[in-house]
Amino acid sequence: MLDRNTTYPTLEINLQSILHNIKKITSLCHNNNISVAGVIKGCNGIPSVVKQFIQGRCDFLASSRIRHLKELKNNNFNCQTMLIRTPMLSEIDDVINYADISLNSEKQIIDKIEKECIKFNTYHKVILMFDLGDLREGYIDEQSFIDLALYIENKLSKVQLYGIGTNLGCYGSILPTTQNLNKLANLATIIESKIGRDLDMVSGGATSSLLLLLQNTIPKKINNLRIGEAFLTGRDLYDHYNCFVDFIKKDAFILKAEIIEIKEKPSYPIGTISVDSFGNRPTYPNIGVHKRALLAVGKQDFGCHEKLLPLDDDIQIIGSSSDHLIINLQNSKNDYKIGDIIEFSAFYQAVLYLTNSLSVNKVCT
Ligand SMILES: *Cc1c(COP(=O)(O)O)cnc(C)c1O
Repeated sequence: MLDRNTTYPTLEINLQSILHNIKKITSLCHNNNISVAGVIKGCNGIPSVVKQFIQGRCDFLASSRIRHLKELKNNNFNCQTMLIRTPMLSEIDDVINYADISLNSEKQIIDKIEKECIKFNTYHKVILMFDLGDLREGYIDEQSFIDLALYIENKLSKVQLYGIGTNLGCYGSILPTTQNLNKLANLATIIESKIGRDLDMVSGGATSSLLLLLQNTIPKKINNLRIGEAFLTGRDLYDHYNCFVDFIKKDAFILKAEIIEIKEKPSYPIGTISVDSFGNRPTYPNIGVHKRALLAVGKQDFGCHEKLLPLDDDIQIIGSSSDHLIINLQNSKNDYKIGDIIEFSAFYQAVLYLTNSLSVNKVCT
């Protein structure tokens, strides 16, 4: 298990599993006339992972961070790029240079894009965002949404109305349904009748919208999805939405961390309990004295230990601080020693942190 040529903590990335997931899901989407924007923010745009997105036939590469898109263009990845967080006023020059398409929800920002495009004699495609109730980005008022779409179509010369879109299940935890996505579909039809042409894109959400596609209940008008989680960690559909999918691999990212201390200790802290290193007041169950280990990896690498799953089923995670992870070894059949490596599978949130941590060694297999 221990590889002396590796530095720890290591995040092992199985590119074949990622490619497998991407191929399965893009063909499902393509068979239903849905294009796919592969969202690379969850893996920090690591180039060897991004290569799988292209090989797996993603139609667009997307990120919320312009630096990821900049890297794509600088690495000559030949694919249309999509900025999926509405641009900052302060980054419009980068937006028109590195994003072919951006999601937008403010007229002031769109006007700035038009101005910059005129200055540099270029074009930019926008997707106008409508809020179906998740209460993050987008217009919630239908008339102002339609008005802005018409304004772009009729008044702007460099900004092109490429389509409309929505986002669900990110802030407000709202599930995509046939009903709420039909509202987006109807808005598309209204705008199309007013502008006298079809919109190129009606973007119906992220991984959670795959639920409707798998049940064959996604409105026909939806012709694009923006997928990240299902490609990388593949856990949301089953673990969060009770949707049984047997064709997605969940083993693409394995965290390997090294044991730096093993002691018999009680589980309940001794003395007056105040706050932990982050000012929180966790609860400490009392399970008595047990064998526990410290691992050299912490919250600043993985975010939150609840998003890690030990591969040894008999190990439980007890807690963590910024640079330590504490585990219970009492029930494990393995006789772990100092210097041994413990492996974890990870949910999307942990992968997002781990791929961004400078202290975590990344190894593709
Ligand atoms: C992150 C993000 C996505 C991808 O979501 P997944 O659940 O990872 O598929 C799609 N759209 C927007 C706007 C996002 O911010």
